[in-house]
Amino acid sequence: MAEIAGAGRAPVDEATSERVAEVRQGLTAVRARIGAACSAAGRDLDEVTLVVVTKTYPATDVRALATLGVLDVGENRDQEAAPKRAVVVGGQTAPGEGQSPLRWHLVGHLQSNKCRSVARWADVVHSLDRERVIEALGRAATDQGRVIDALVQVSLDGDPDRGGAAVDHVPALADLIAATSGLRLRGLMAVAPLGLVPSHAFDVLAQAGQRLRQTDPDATWMSAGMSQDLEAAIAAGATHVRVGSAVLGVRPVLG
Ligand SMILES: *Cc1c(COP(=O)(O)O)cnc(C)c1O
Repeated sequence: MAEIAGAGRAPVDEATSERVAEVRQGLTAVRARIGAACSAAGRDLDEVTLVVVTKTYPATDVRALATLGVLDVGENRDQEAAPKRAVVVGGQTAPGEGQSPLRWHLVGHLQSNKCRSVARWADVVHSLDRERVIEALGRAATDQGRVIDALVQVSLDGDPDRGGAAVDHVPALADLIAATSGLRLRGLMAVAPLGLVPSHAFDVLAQAGQRLRQTDPDATWMSAGMSQDLEAAIAAGATHVRVGSAVLGVRPVLG
């Protein structure tokens, strides 16, 4: 909304109406893809949450998404996400003030030394893959009186550079999360490895999730699927798809 001229307040930094229209179009297209994939898989639309990945896009895009009914946004770096969230919620970070109605997800690699900051803004962390970060994030969340939804990131090709724990290591990490105050174990996340058929990779993740639920029946989330492969992920049982460029367009060059 434009400010009334002379009202004496700084204009709120909003996306242009052209940009809002562009984002609306991307969002409509992705929602249609999710709907079609759910129908094809015989699943209910409300089983799948769209997390719009806003990394590299400006805070004005996040606000535009919120006005278009998006409830979940994902970021991959603390350095970018923390200031962006502060802008989106109006720069107010004191507890109880300026609480964002959005749920903020960290989908990218997490280092232990970022846990303190991440625990201030993230509602969901998808990328827990080592004991050290689980312990550090749990401590930070507990100190701040928060409980963060937590997923174990699984490596589906065993390549440690891409992040994620080996499938064999998942039960131990899940047990640790379940025993850590400040964290709530929700399920598993993966990125389909290059060179593997996505549907095969997502089936491996789904099977790991089934095994996990034998001990942790509430760990029902499966975070899988991006712009390129969300249909395959939904067919395999994804509950959370993480979609960036298909909603927001070609990603601005990383700074
Ligand atoms: C960037 C990113 C996404 C979204 O990727 P798009 O191809 O833009 O949809 C999803 N998950 C993770 C972990 C990411 O880093």
